Amino acid sequence: MTRTAEDAWSILGVPPGSSHDMVRAQYLRMVRMNHPDQYAANPKERARHEEIMKRVTWAYREITQGRAEVPKKTSTPPPRRPQSRPYRPVDLRELMCRAHHRWAVSYCTVCAAPLCSRCDESLSGYCAVHRPRGRF
Ligand SMILES: [Zn+2]
Ligand SMILES: [Zn+2]
Repeated sequence: MTRTAEDAWSILGVPPGSSHDMVRAQYLRMVRMNHPDQYAANPKERARHEEIMKRVTWAYREITQGRAEVPKKTSTPPPRRPQSRPYRPVDLRELMCRAHHRWAVSYCTVCAAPLCSRCDESLSGYCAVHRPRGRF
């Protein structure tokens, strides 16, 4: 398996050309996150994290030993223009339940009616009309 310099940066999860301090800090973070001792009780997870650590260690060595060059062409895609959405005033009726005039905590999955915690005490996600009978 051949890995490229770019892989090293992305395996470690730092932008290409990051400073030594940043690379080291990120490496130590990954070591902490994937330390096999944390998964001692779960051999499968342990093996998975050991595998991750192998890759991370490889990437760290590549970078710190200067083998992972910063890719030449850093073609950053042009920032996408945020899509202009037509202005829509917030309708408070969409945010308040109709029965109690309290803030909605959820919406009916059927009719999208705003439901406060009193309308839908069990947080079933259904208004009184659409709540399946016998349940909740
Ligand atoms: Zn409904
Ligand atoms: Zn209500």
